[in-house]
Parts: sequence; structure tokens; C-alpha cells
Amino acid sequence: MAKLTRAFGIPKLPVRFARGLRFRLMLSYVLFFTLLLIAVGLFFREVLKSQLEGDIQMLLEDDWGSIKGWVSIDNERPVWSAPADEDETQIVAQLKQVYFIADREGHALEDSETYRSIGFDPLPDIKRVLNMPEGFTEYVTRWGSDGTPYLVKRGWLVGTHRKRYFLAMGRSLADSQRNVARFTRNYFLFVPGIIALSSLLGWMVAGRALWPLNSVAQAAQNITGSNLSLRIPPRGAGDELDHLIDSFNRMTARLAQSFEQIRRFSTDVSHELRTPLTSIRGQLEVAIFTAEKPEQYREAMVNALEDVEQLSSIVRALLLLSQAESGQLVLQRSPLDLGDVAIDIVEQFQIPAQEKDIRLTASVAPGCVVPADRVQIKRLISNLLSNAIKYTPAGGAVNVRVGPGDSPALASLEIEDTGVGIAPEDLPHIFDRFYRVRNAETNKISGLGLGLSFVSWIVEAHGGRIDVASTVGSGTRFRILLPRQAETEAVQPMETDTATTAA
Ligand code: ATP
Ligand code: MG
Repeated sequence: MAKLTRAFGIPKLPVRFARGLRFRLMLSYVLFFTLLLIAVGLFFREVLKSQLEGDIQMLLEDDWGSIKGWVSIDNERPVWSAPADEDETQIVAQLKQVYFIADREGHALEDSETYRSIGFDPLPDIKRVLNMPEGFTEYVTRWGSDGTPYLVKRGWLVGTHRKRYFLAMGRSLADSQRNVARFTRNYFLFVPGIIALSSLLGWMVAGRALWPLNSVAQAAQNITGSNLSLRIPPRGAGDELDHLIDSFNRMTARLAQSFEQIRRFSTDVSHELRTPLTSIRGQLEVAIFTAEKPEQYREAMVNALEDVEQLSSIVRALLLLSQAESGQLVLQRSPLDLGDVAIDIVEQFQIPAQEKDIRLTASVAPGCVVPADRVQIKRLISNLLSNAIKYTPAGGAVNVRVGPGDSPALASLEIEDTGVGIAPEDLPHIFDRFYRVRNAETNKISGLGLGLSFVSWIVEAHGGRIDVASTVGSGTRFRILLPRQAETEAVQPMETDTATTAA
């Protein structure tokens, strides 16, 4: 039987284990600990070594002091004083163990067998030492023929006729080296055990530290598109994990908000599309089943065409907004008289305003030229005017003003109505996509909640600013500030965030 397994991006188990956070934490802990143990071991080894060598050096110092009392050189011959008792005999025997006395030509006057196994000092060394000032001594490490290390002290002593003779005395370093080697061996035998123990400890500690992550992962798995209200309960420890849980919960809250917006949008879009679609269907049914005369057919077709036009304008708006927000829409800027554009649009809106018995007026200061995209600025004013007319009851008034802004570098466009107004709690959201105020008045008015998203995007793209002041039941004023066209230089963008204020 043929079998085929295809795994995409899932590492095999040992690889997954090695990449696991717990394993890596444990590994870094163990690595650090091992390096620390090695460094501590080496440090104490050096301390021990230098201490033991220091002890041998002190013994050699004593030997050096006493040999000068015991031996004198008379006519090229070393003469030893006779020891008076057993103790002195032992002292002399110790002094004679590793020593070497030579004249200026390097000829041995007296030496011990051990020193011979080390080898006599080379003539240049002897000559150099003999030429040194009074009191000079030096230490060298030498090795016997059997490999035993010796610490050797070299200097000179004075014989008859003030003649100088080379003197070298040594003591074996074998014992101290053995001790250092024993320490090193024992220490490094004990290190693997400690490492194994620390690995176990590291594994447990890392497991304990990461354990809450599993509960976070478990909670995250339970969150689905339809269950976005679920939150991971914070542990109250105030640590990094709580911070992560908090960020995670905020993210789910944002996701929930986006999901809610999308859900509302789908409902709104289907509602918006259904109305013209039902109407088109009705018109076509009239044409097929009841129309008899060519004029009746024609009327049904004209009505259907109007609804098709409305449908395509909704689709166009959606498409345009997604293009704008994904950065595909590029502004075609040219010097534009804001007042002229405003008057054009106000004229276009006169008929719908009159139909609603709303007084639509405009007052425009000349010369407010801005470097802007004509199509987008028209869309901006149309959206604001359409809102003003939509949300103002019959008998109200809408006024459009164009004039200088707060500074000479700015132009201002104001659209003020005497409409239903916007509650302070809704004000921060009106520029959000698909956001519509839900209340008794606005529910009767159709819309997608996209108009002000456009307005916000257009103002931001032109480097401008929006202020909104509104009082529920009295009216709303939108004020847009745009950078003016400078005579020579390029456009200076302002602060791009949109500011809102409630009156
Ligand atoms: P669309 O413009 O996409 O057809 P819409 O007008 O509902 O739909 P926006 O223009 O984005 O959407 O406005 C968002 C919300 O802000 C509106 O639903 C409305 O409640 C509120 N709003 C906007 N302008 C005014 C205004 N002039 N007076 C009172 N409320 C307003
Ligand atoms: Mg609107």
C-alpha cells in the first residue's frame, strides 16, 4: 500500500523539542552554569598553585639564609662548618640535597647528585648572575632528568680575596604540582554531576516559569470568530506574562470590534443593495406583466436604470474606499479655488435641499487657493453637504463658508447645519468606517457609514485637519483646514490627525 505524508512547516519531534522554549531556557542556564564552574575551577587552581609555589619559595629563602652561614669558600674549595648536634646535621643534609657551587668559568666546585640530574646552569647565566650587584637573587623553574620540576634560586656568595662564586639551590615542586593536579581532577570530576543536577533544576524551573503560557495558549485556542468576547483571565502577578495576556486581550477586543463592524457592514450593504434590487425587480415585472404601451415599457426601464445607477454608486464607493485605504488612490493636485468648488456643489445640492425645505446658503471669500485634487475635494464637500441635508429636518438651514483659516497659510471650509446633532459619545467614532449613529432620528435615514471615512481620508491625504462641533438637537459644524497654495514653494503638510470637539 502506497502512503504519502506531506507536512508543511511542522518540524519533526526532536527538532520541535530542541526548538522549544523550555529546552532553550534550560540549555542557556546549563551553558552559563558550566562556563561559570569552569572559570571558578581554573581560578582556584591558579590560586592554589601560586600559594603552594609561594610556600616553596619561602622555604628556599630560609635555605639560602642558612647555607651562607654553613659554607665558606677557601682557595676555591667550599668548606662546611661541622654540625654540633643531630638537628644541625639534618639541616646541613637538607641544604646539600639540591645545590650547586661553581666558579666564574662554570667549573663545579661542589654539587649534589640531584642538581646534576637537573643539569648545571649554562655559562652565560652564571656569568650574568656573578656580575649582578650585591644581594641579587633570581628564581627559575628547572626539570630533572625524570621530569620532576624544581624551583631553583640563583645568586652568588663571596670567598677568600673577595672572589664571587655562583650558588644555586633548589627544592622539588613535585608535591605542590601533585596537589594542584589532585584538586583539578577532583573538581572536574564533580563538575559533570553538578551540571546534570543543574540541568534537571533548569528543566524544572523553566517548566514552572512557562507553565502559565500553556493556559494562555489553551484560552487562545478557545477563542473563535464567533466567540471573540472570551478573555484570558489575568494572573495578577504584574509580570511579563500578565503584560502579554493584557496585550492579547486588547487584541481580541480590537478584533471583536472589527468583526462587529464587518457584521454591521454586511447587514447595511445587503440592506442598501436590497432596496434598489427590489425596486429593479418590481420595474421589470411591471414591464413584463402589465405594460402594454411603449411609454409604459420606457418608464419602467428608466426607473430600473436609476436604481442600477444607485447600485453601482454604492459599489463604486466601497471600491474607492478600499483603494484609498490601501494607498492605491494617488492625488492629482493642482491649484484649486476652494470657494469656486464650494459654490458649484452648493448649486448642485439646491434641488434636494429645496425638496426637504432646507435653506442652503454659501458665503465665500475670494482667493482661497489650495493645492488639491479637484475630484476628491468635490467628493469631500458633497459628502459633508449630503450629511448636513440628510441629518437636518425640514425647515432647517445649512450654510457653507469658505475663508481664511487660523493662520495665513491655511484656508478654511465650514459646513454648518441646524440638524439633529451628534451626541458626544458618538463624536469620536463618526469617522470610523461603517459607523452610523443609531437613534430614533437617524434610523430612518439610509446610509452606509462610509461618507465621513472618505472625508477623513481626503483631508489627511491633503495634509489638513477636521474639527467637529455639535450639539444634539441644535446642529453640527464641520470645519476643515487645508494648507494654502504657496506662491513658489511646495505644499507644507499640517498635523494629519483629525480633531473632534463637542460643543
Ligand atoms: P453614507 O455617507 O455612507 O451614505 P452616513 O451618512 O450614515 O452614510 P457618514 O457620512 O460616514 O455615514 O456619517 C456617519 C454618521 O455620522 C452618520 O450616520 C450620522 O449619524 C452622523 N452624522 C454625520 N454628519 C452629520 C450631521 N451633519 N448631523 C448629524 N449627524 C451626522
Ligand atoms: Mg454620509
